Amino acid sequence: MTTRTTTYLVCTCGHRGVLRTAENDQPYSKEWFNRTVEGFIDNDEGFSFRQLTCRACGRHGEVSATEKPPTSA
Ligand SMILES: [Zn+2]
Repeated sequence: MTTRTTTYLVCTCGHRGVLRTAENDQPYSKEWFNRTVEGFIDNDEGFSFRQLTCRACGRHGEVSATEKPPTSA
């Protein structure tokens, strides 16, 4: 079974993005982990999004999770 998560991200400048992860949690198959970042520069920190770099303002580590999808105001 694959566990998927979607986290909406927002920078302190207001720039929005999305972090998607997919993880295989079957006990007898090879473990794998995949993540996709939209809107921010991925620094490959595993599950963490706090060290992402904003594509809009270039700030580093200013990302917060938010409940709102990027398409809503
Ligand atoms: Zn920003």
